[in-house]
Amino acid sequence: MTTPVNLLDLTPAAAELALRAFAEECGVGAYRGSQAARHLWQAPVAGFADMTVLPAEFRAQLAERFTLPRPELVAQQASTDGTRKFLFRMHDGQTVETVAIPDDDRMTFCISSQAGCPLQCAFCATGAMGFARNLTPSEIAGQVRELALLDPPLRATNIVFMGMGEPLMNWPAVDVVLTTLNQPQGLGIGARHITISTVGWLPGIQALARRPEQFRLAISVHAPSDALRATLMPVNTKFPLDDVIAAAGEFDRRVTFEYVMLGGINDQPEHARQLAALAKRCKAFVNLIPLHPGGTMGFVPTSRDDIGTFARMMRKAGVEVAVRKSRGLDIDAACGQLRVERLARQRPALANENREVEIP
Ligand code: SAH
Repeated sequence: MTTPVNLLDLTPAAAELALRAFAEECGVGAYRGSQAARHLWQAPVAGFADMTVLPAEFRAQLAERFTLPRPELVAQQASTDGTRKFLFRMHDGQTVETVAIPDDDRMTFCISSQAGCPLQCAFCATGAMGFARNLTPSEIAGQVRELALLDPPLRATNIVFMGMGEPLMNWPAVDVVLTTLNQPQGLGIGARHITISTVGWLPGIQALARRPEQFRLAISVHAPSDALRATLMPVNTKFPLDDVIAAAGEFDRRVTFEYVMLGGINDQPEHARQLAALAKRCKAFVNLIPLHPGGTMGFVPTSRDDIGTFARMMRKAGVEVAVRKSRGLDIDAACGQLRVERLARQRPALANENREVEIP
């Protein structure tokens, strides 16, 4: 017997082809395969048994040849501001977070790409838990699918890869997921509404740049000099700021800088000047992010007023800046915070003596 194929690991077009071929094999007509394909992403159902437009016998045959694996929803929290946070458990026990953030007529899902993260940024709760493994395409896009299966369903209009993990270290999976999110036969979310956030993983930025769609790129800058950045983000020794800014400049779409405001550390006037110079070099838009407290290991947020002053200095220097609204503060909705709360913290694997990050 052949091993069943996980349809959710395929791009929607590839899954439809496989389903059409199988339907013909079963003698029910290729269109039955297309009907099944619609229920993967466009009108998702929990399993083949629920594809009630299909003959019962064909549903049973589908269940033998294919799988539609689902993660288990093990915890959820709702913030007073409407933000909802979900913790999903994968088949091997690994857990990842997904956050749904409503804002006017938008619904942004913040999704995870890895279980844990190898990069260990000093202020990030996910880094502190260490790295377990990359997620598969079905586990990443499956987070979006699961929320669409809730009653009532949650439908994403926007996706940000700002949950757990570094998406560009898991490019083969993220590459498939981008297609699934974007294709009309998939979730049909416009490429401009899908943002990949990265520490500046250069090979991944180049791979993303080769995709023809207008996916958005956000770069976690967080410090305007190598000396400071290396103390906050060990990855800076592998991919120094200069190279990251150069890659941002070569990217054919406008890039966003993310800059978490860390009280007394990266929020001084000289930092605003340096950051403005970097942003101008690659015409970036800058998002100042208030530090999300919780699991942040001794860092303190910059005050509202000081963030405002920092933003004005940047604007004066000719840079477009926005201060990101903090959402889900009462449920610790920042990167990794739910899983950290639920699990005893594992000791992270340490960076080696050259402060290099091991690449799995
Ligand atoms: N690895 C990717 C994506 C995941 S993190 C990246 O680093 O860009 C998404 C964003 O959340 C990053 O900018 C990260 O630095 C930021 N972040 C992590 N912990 C945070 C916290 N406690 N408060 C605010 N932002 C945080």
